[in-house]
Amino acid sequence: MPESVRLRELIEDNTGPAAPELVVKGPNDAVRCLACGHRCHIPVGHAGVCRVRFNRRGELRVPFGYVSGLQIDPIEKKPFYHAFPGRDALSFGMLGCDFHCGYCQNWVTSQALRDDRAGTRVSGYSPDELADLAVEHDVPVIVSTYNEPLITADWAVCVFEAGRRRGLRCGFVSNGNATPEVLAYIRPYVELYKVDLKSFDDKHYRKLGGVLQNVLDSIGRLKEMGFWLEIVTLVVPTFNDSDDELGQMARFIAGVSPDIPWHVTAFHPDYKMTDPPRTPAATLFRAYDIGRAAGLRYVYAGNLAGGVDHREHTPCPRCGQVLIRRRGFYVEENRMKGDACSFCGESIAGVWEADPPRQSRGDGWPRAIR
Ligand code: SF4
Repeated sequence: MPESVRLRELIEDNTGPAAPELVVKGPNDAVRCLACGHRCHIPVGHAGVCRVRFNRRGELRVPFGYVSGLQIDPIEKKPFYHAFPGRDALSFGMLGCDFHCGYCQNWVTSQALRDDRAGTRVSGYSPDELADLAVEHDVPVIVSTYNEPLITADWAVCVFEAGRRRGLRCGFVSNGNATPEVLAYIRPYVELYKVDLKSFDDKHYRKLGGVLQNVLDSIGRLKEMGFWLEIVTLVVPTFNDSDDELGQMARFIAGVSPDIPWHVTAFHPDYKMTDPPRTPAATLFRAYDIGRAAGLRYVYAGNLAGGVDHREHTPCPRCGQVLIRRRGFYVEENRMKGDACSFCGESIAGVWEADPPRQSRGDGWPRAIR
């Protein structure tokens, strides 16, 4: 039996009704899904673009009650650099995606149902069990990641409700193809939001399965709605690494807010995109300089741990002192004082703890669960 057929059966067995906020009923029992920017019109018996939300006899059924990836990662891996530095995040994912990026590093889960080579085991969990695991492992943050969390937002909100009852903080690691409706739906639970800004060329976005303007609109909206937002651009040689395109991205982000951290990270050949070479450090340095010249206060070069010099540290934008010194995902030293620079008192944008760990625990990542 092809893997996609086996997974289709498995997914159909692990669903619940969509949150009422994320569905509109139409004529002939068709539904419109509002969970991502595709806004799929789904007739009875069909699924949306993501293939995991489908219309069963006039009801939009959505993924529920399982995870396909579950581990404890450093929060810097998400990456969030200005939220709980040095802490870990309980990270869970499900299956499927609304995009089909040729370089996806999580394609085994994200492209399940679209690619017979993809496919992975899933495990049944309740929201309370997941939240209890975070508490048991002394992890302050839960993050929906590995696949696109917008398409499984209903499940994430149930997990996050359980997490919030236990005092946990919650985040999305997302492609940003959101709708105003889904952002309003998750806002009471989600505080941290990472968006991939993959290109500033709509033709490139269409190849990946998205629309540039949807992502730009989401970035502006996330900021307006008060999410803590960090943006990542995987810099792929010959795809999005021209000065012109990097400059457009940097100026757009700075126009939304110069306090948004911009992570420019190194590509390595993966999945279907095996032609471009690995991103050289010099390209990340150029992207870093472009971001800083555009007015961004916090630009980080990633995926080349230890090979980017000061570009993975957090500087104070006023006095220039290094406040958080990192090597890859590892915080070597945190000299923040609450939400401010300990040298000059400048306020630093982010979600900070009054008494943070001064360095990462780093006792073996990822820490597998059970
Ligand atoms: S989550 Fe997006 S792709 Fe999936 S059914 Fe809804 S609108 Fe379509």
